[in-house]
Amino acid sequence: TKTINKIAAGEVVEGPKSVVKELVENAIDAGATAVTVEIKEGGISYIRIMDNGCGIPKEQVKTAFLRHATSKMSEIEDLEHIFTLGFRGEALASIAGVAQVEMLTKTRDEETGTSIEISGGEIKNIQDTSCTEGTTITVKNLFYNVPARRKFLKKPATESGFVSDLMNKLALGHPEVSFRFINNDTTMLHTAGNGDLKASVFYVYGKEAANSMVPLEYKKGEYALSGLIGKPELSRGNRNYENLFINGRFIKNKVVATAVEDAYKTRLLIGKFPIFVLNFQMNPSQVDVNVHPAKLEVRFKNDDEIYEFFHDAVSKTLDQLVL
Ligand code: ADP
Ligand code: MG
Repeated sequence: TKTINKIAAGEVVEGPKSVVKELVENAIDAGATAVTVEIKEGGISYIRIMDNGCGIPKEQVKTAFLRHATSKMSEIEDLEHIFTLGFRGEALASIAGVAQVEMLTKTRDEETGTSIEISGGEIKNIQDTSCTEGTTITVKNLFYNVPARRKFLKKPATESGFVSDLMNKLALGHPEVSFRFINNDTTMLHTAGNGDLKASVFYVYGKEAANSMVPLEYKKGEYALSGLIGKPELSRGNRNYENLFINGRFIKNKVVATAVEDAYKTRLLIGKFPIFVLNFQMNPSQVDVNVHPAKLEVRFKNDDEIYEFFHDAVSKTLDQLVL
């Protein structure tokens, strides 16, 4: 079974970035308002995620690390379910199978917290401990027991770049959460978490970008879109500044990217890419399929409708700028 666990872990755990992604999503699911992410050597030797969320009750700590253990509801139309497709309850088990993991966790109602150490899927220690409410999880020496996978990790600078990009997306997708990202003892990002998207853009892309973004609000039928888009002069040379979230979750989608870019095209921005941070509220049943969960690509059931909706939303907002 060990081999099976290790192979399956490869699906969820590609590298430090996917570890951070899963653990931060858990923190957000736990209602955390402040999340600190610390990595060393690109996250290969050390990742620590600290949250002030609800914590895990003592009697559930061991279970949380079992494959398919989840405390979260997953109805068929549950958005979470669609986007994580088959990965429900996999993250902690997978990560603990391929690294040395330590967790401290405490709920509000408990007098003492719990500390657990798991390496290569084996519980090494579990005991009561004193700690504050919330969860701190430390992941050391990723793939220490799977040399074949460890070999495929990139250089620390590259891996930390991936984590840094992810932290930016998380900050833009969750302005209501205060994120702190520390790379090799240097704070790279620290957001206020006051719910102001413009403030998040300021932290992530800087003052010039934040000042050149305009609000977009658009609704049609079951679709609602809101966020910030850059004025046409604020263009970029690549798609890295195009941020689409569906109900707070970062997603890549070609149809949306094309619709937004087309809306800009007739307006100064020929051949360049816009900056945008848009949150799309929709009925998850309209998401056809998760093309590649790890790559965050989705396909919609009705591409034409989606194209038109985004094209209209952005065009109308840009039209108003000129007036
Ligand atoms: P999933 O998130 O799909 O449920 P995970 O393996 O990521 O699966 O987590 C397993 C369970 O452990 C979660 O359902 C949750 O109950 C608990 N858990 C994990 N991380 C945290 C956290 N940071 N705070 C509170 N509970 C957590
Ligand atoms: Mg999870």
